[in-house]
Amino acid sequence: MSKIYDEVLSANAGYAGSFGDKGSLALPPARRFAILTCMDARLDPARYAGLAEGDAHVIRNAGGRATDDAIRSLVISHKLLGTLEWFVIHHTNCGMELFADEVIADLLEDDLGTASFDGKAWTNPHHHGGHAAGHFVKWHTIGDQARSVLQDVRRIREHPLVSPSIPIYGFVYDVRSGRLDEVKAASEAGKAAA
Ligand SMILES: [Zn+2]
Repeated sequence: MSKIYDEVLSANAGYAGSFGDKGSLALPPARRFAILTCMDARLDPARYAGLAEGDAHVIRNAGGRATDDAIRSLVISHKLLGTLEWFVIHHTNCGMELFADEVIADLLEDDLGTASFDGKAWTNPHHHGGHAAGHFVKWHTIGDQARSVLQDVRRIREHPLVSPSIPIYGFVYDVRSGRLDEVKAASEAGKAAA
């Protein structure tokens, strides 16, 4: 087994060993809110938003984008599990700003292994075994964080299955300071119906 495999299982043994009364937590999030945010390893929503187990839903994907699947989770979060407020949180220095759809599709068509980035362009170290399927995927890349947050809040707000009673707040997390900066236009667009 790999080193990481062992580390994860060892960390889990420690966690389970001091699990305490968390086994009796209710399924619906106690603080009744949800966060949609990026999978970026530097972001820890439990810490940056002060969450404990059982508090809130956290939905993560590359970019924290309001994809169909993210919206599916949010709709379930409210409809079946009672969350009443949602946050969309993108962040500075997001990897989703570093490529365009054609770039990742071309790289994948050439080779499926990890590509490298020199600060300007992506290149594959090897060139075999790629596939063209990437050209048929919408990758939801980001050009400007404030704009992507606004777009995503709007998309969620206007979705036919999203209750107008849910306020949706838009933020950009700053990876250098740990601070959440509100995107006013997004939170305005995400206001709940009176
Ligand atoms: Zn990101």
